[in-house]
Amino acid sequence: MTAEEILQRHKLKNTGCRKFILTELLRSDSALSEEEIKKPFPELFDRVTFYRTLKTLEEQHVIHRIVLHDNSVKYALNGHHSDQNPVHAHFHCGKCDEVLCLEGKSHFDAELPADFVTREVFVVVEGLCAGCNHPS
Ligand SMILES: [Zn+2]
Ligand SMILES: [Zn+2]
Repeated sequence: MTAEEILQRHKLKNTGCRKFILTELLRSDSALSEEEIKKPFPELFDRVTFYRTLKTLEEQHVIHRIVLHDNSVKYALNGHHSDQNPVHAHFHCGKCDEVLCLEGKSHFDAELPADFVTREVFVVVEGLCAGCNHPS
């Protein structure tokens, strides 16, 4: 899938900044921070445009954000999960800082007090990725 196809599927206009962000996320196997997305062309878009575009893409469910324990934020594409289930866990490598969407549903049962409802569940698994666990 290309950035254009993703925008088309969500009925979004193809702007330079949207296309740029999606292209960078498509190229990467892991989730990216705003800085990491910008890295190849840091001066191409101003901060406000970039921030707004990320927000729009998030609101339109094209991408989702992952908030890490230090409150830093990474972004990943939606829809590469088989069943579109928005509730999935993420993995964070404490050594190289890589963040991945984990396949499969994560089960999280919390007993809520009466009349409480769950709206979202964020699960981040902290650990070491294969490369950091077994450096060659
Ligand atoms: Zn790692
Ligand atoms: Zn994810």
